[in-house]
Amino acid sequence: MASGILVVFNQEGGRVRRVAYEMLSLAQKLAPGSITALTFGEGADQVREAVGRYGADRVILLSSPTYHRYSSDGFAQAVAQAVEAVDPEALFFPANAWGKDLAPRVAGLLGAGLASDCTEVHRREDGRLGAIRPIYAGKAYARVAIDSPRQIFSLRPNIQAVEESGRAADVLTVDPGLDASSFQAVVSEVIQSQGGQMELTEADIIVSGGRGIKAPENFKVLEDLAEAVGAALGSSRPVADEGWVPHSYHIGQTGKVVSPTVYFAVGISGAIQHLAGISGSKYIVAINNDPDAPIFKAANYGIVGDLFKVVPALANEVRRI
Ligand code: FAD
Repeated sequence: MASGILVVFNQEGGRVRRVAYEMLSLAQKLAPGSITALTFGEGADQVREAVGRYGADRVILLSSPTYHRYSSDGFAQAVAQAVEAVDPEALFFPANAWGKDLAPRVAGLLGAGLASDCTEVHRREDGRLGAIRPIYAGKAYARVAIDSPRQIFSLRPNIQAVEESGRAADVLTVDPGLDASSFQAVVSEVIQSQGGQMELTEADIIVSGGRGIKAPENFKVLEDLAEAVGAALGSSRPVADEGWVPHSYHIGQTGKVVSPTVYFAVGISGAIQHLAGISGSKYIVAINNDPDAPIFKAANYGIVGDLFKVVPALANEVRRI
């Protein structure tokens, strides 16, 4: 009978994103002792110890040149082969750009149901797994049950505490026997986003600017606060559309969905499309000179004032502490 959880994640040069540890920590609670991790690419061999520490009992490391460049169809076939070898009851993927591309293809190949962008996965009374995921742009949450024998979930980053279990993962050798030349689509080049800042979807603190900053050069005010509090920078859509910041900063319904501990919304009115991307934040701090701005309804803390006075004062105060 299928059992255990296969946790599939991306890594770069041995660097594992925090969301992988979050998935492993959650998986270990749901199926203790039967967690297999699977990752791809150059540097995959270096992750064995780290994934073991966070809950993987076994790890499949597909580090050969076949997997050095991402291929949606190729990687999906490889995961399907690993599923045959491991026979898990469920698969976890990160709900980041990589996982959002791969998980549906794997679900299609396996004929399995997929619940995407889950904020919770739990064990139900009938012994199967169930999930909770936001719907209607974060306005409501749905309980999801998957009827297919094999269940697939993608997990939103930053929703699960990371717990170390202190064990080393055994290496499980699985050779999917694939040839990269048969892959239909392969990523040919990866261009790093400007600024090299941390991935917004995984950031713990975000300082985000809206049209209230008025001009691109004024973003410096936010950069200063971000540096003081150790935050990543984000923005509302118009600010990115204007070209004031890179598009990778754009947060909201049509941009990135973030779930930091603290989200500073600076000069952002709080349109529903922006709120859709930030509803997973633990604390929202709004800074706006309009006391009636809708952002204050969503915020835990609000400062009514001119951002050009409030933000530098805040940054100075943080540096003073
Ligand atoms: P504004 O609404 O112009 O707000 C600027 C705010 O700055 C105001 O509240 C103002 O009081 C304040 N302000 C001005 N000066 C100061 C000052 N000196 N000090 C302090 N505060 C000041 N938007 C997104 O963000 N993300 C999305 O993903 C997104 N997707 C969309 C999808 C669709 C289909 C559509 C139709 C729209 C989408 N939008 C999205 C746009 C959204 O509707 C809003 O237009 C946008 O979020 C507004 O951006 P803003 O808050 O930066 O600007």
